[in-house]
Amino acid sequence: MRCPYCGSLETQVKDSRPAGDQSAIRRRRACPDCGGRFTTFERVQLRELTVLKKSGRRVPFEREKLMRSIEVALRKRPVEPDRVERMANGIVRQLESQGESEIPSGRIGELVMEGLRGLDSVAYVRFASVYRNFREARDFNTLIDELSNGDGEAPEDETTQPPAIARSPGVA
Ligand SMILES: [Zn+2]
Repeated sequence: MRCPYCGSLETQVKDSRPAGDQSAIRRRRACPDCGGRFTTFERVQLRELTVLKKSGRRVPFEREKLMRSIEVALRKRPVEPDRVERMANGIVRQLESQGESEIPSGRIGELVMEGLRGLDSVAYVRFASVYRNFREARDFNTLIDELSNGDGEAPEDETTQPPAIARSPGVA
């Protein structure tokens, strides 16, 4: 594993342990050339996946990008990292076990929405409002109604205001 700081190829594993829900191995590595320390994760990958973007462009599926878009939605929300990890694993497993190796980006967005809905209603609304690209307050209120009538917890006051999120979730 190349050192991310100096590019040396001589990095050493200092420690290995199970991570998350035991579906990954976390390794602490050290670089003898520059003293840099970093962490790598080893995960099962059932198959190579390609994301088909709306623009028609194809890019390799990256779990890190999926995690980032989930984390943006969950920012400052009281959700256990283990639950987030399990949700991301569940999404990746669903994608890997479907018939096609090419996945429309919209499919990933739908799975993230489903997952967040069960995890945290505020994060769900944040993600959905960006993902569905709401243009009118009416769309937002429809979503709030869906949530209130659903089996999830009632949305908190924070969610009655449209969220001020400029960043795209990164999966669209
Ligand atoms: Zn180094």
